[in-house]
Amino acid sequence: MSETVDNTKIYRVELGVRSYDIHIEPDCLGRLGEAMAKLFAAPTRCMVISNVTIAPLYMDVVRSSLEQAGWQVSECILADGERYKTMESFGLIMDALMQSKLSRNEPVIALGGGVVGDMTGFAASCYRRGIPFIQVPTTVLAQVDSSVGGKTAINHPHGKNMIGAFYQPKLVWIDPKVLNTLELREIRAGIAEAIKYGLIRDAGFFEWMQKSAKAALDLNADVLGQMIHTSCRHKAEVVMADETEQGQRALLNLGHTFGHAIESMTHYSTYLHGEGVAIGTLMAARLSEQLGHAPAGTEDAIRGCYKHVGLPVEVPGFSAEQWLDAMGHDKKNVGSRIRYILLRGIGDAFLAEDVSPDAINQLIDSYRK
Ligand code: NAD
Ligand code: MG
Repeated sequence: MSETVDNTKIYRVELGVRSYDIHIEPDCLGRLGEAMAKLFAAPTRCMVISNVTIAPLYMDVVRSSLEQAGWQVSECILADGERYKTMESFGLIMDALMQSKLSRNEPVIALGGGVVGDMTGFAASCYRRGIPFIQVPTTVLAQVDSSVGGKTAINHPHGKNMIGAFYQPKLVWIDPKVLNTLELREIRAGIAEAIKYGLIRDAGFFEWMQKSAKAALDLNADVLGQMIHTSCRHKAEVVMADETEQGQRALLNLGHTFGHAIESMTHYSTYLHGEGVAIGTLMAARLSEQLGHAPAGTEDAIRGCYKHVGLPVEVPGFSAEQWLDAMGHDKKNVGSRIRYILLRGIGDAFLAEDVSPDAINQLIDSYRK
């Protein structure tokens, strides 16, 4: 890590030939062109992929920065929302790439949140068997999580992120100032994913988040910069150790087994992803205490932090059977196991594959008392 007095933070993700920098700096959006000119031998053509909400806010700055640095810029503007993270949008990106005749070493730039980033990365991995791509994340979630690590995907009607690839970006260019236009609810949901790193592997960061989350919500530049940097460092460390999720990368899914079930049982219309993860994490913490892995008080400490941020903490009232169904428990397949990420305490997560349906019944019962 290198750090300078002007709030610039750079973290290098070391993955051999796939290594890249994460650059975090307030107001850096207008210097993207310069940074990209350094990455490529000579500026040629590039394409910026964004959506109808983000493009009116930030496309002009990005385009003029690229053009000043000598790039010839084309655009592909998609509809806004998770429901457009589809084969159809993927096809629109391919059409635009074919029309602009981008060659194999000319880059695409994802300007947006996790949805734009995931789709752009996947399209970049496929077009001409792979062209370079740059992440310019514009949501808290994308800045602390999804823009780093190379998981790219689109959804299929039968499942989220079912079609995708591991494909690393060439650069992650983070301007925390763009968060000024983001809705408060989206900021909160992104902060839940930052808190997650503390819970999984850094108790000190969790304590810092307990103190600092309010300032992050108020978009205090120093606090945001620190939160994003520490989150990216944790994400990158995990990815460097386990790029394709053979082992410890799965720990990043703390709260996600229950969280995804919450999202799917409420038809993806009630909770944002980060909100589902927050509630799911509280459930994982209670289960960890119930099974004797984590000390009493673990769940309460996490709940206190979420409440402070204004995240939802109430577990929705579904039956144990509904929960198990939503989590992919197949009653016909006796051998099927649901994988849970549990806690030994704050800052120490582990993968458990031996949690019995009885334990889940008991957990769900505990919310009915
Ligand atoms: P999103 O991309 O849908 O963005 C949320 C909303 O904010 C959208 O309406 C968007 O248009 C708007 N927006 C974005 N930036 C803005 C800005 N600066 N100002 C105003 N509005 C802005 O949602 P998200 O939470 O960023 O990402 C969720 C997606 O990320 C999911 O599809 C999920 O599967 C994916 N994800 C991927 C990874 C990964 O490792 N690849 C990790 C976590 C999540
Ligand atoms: Mg997540």
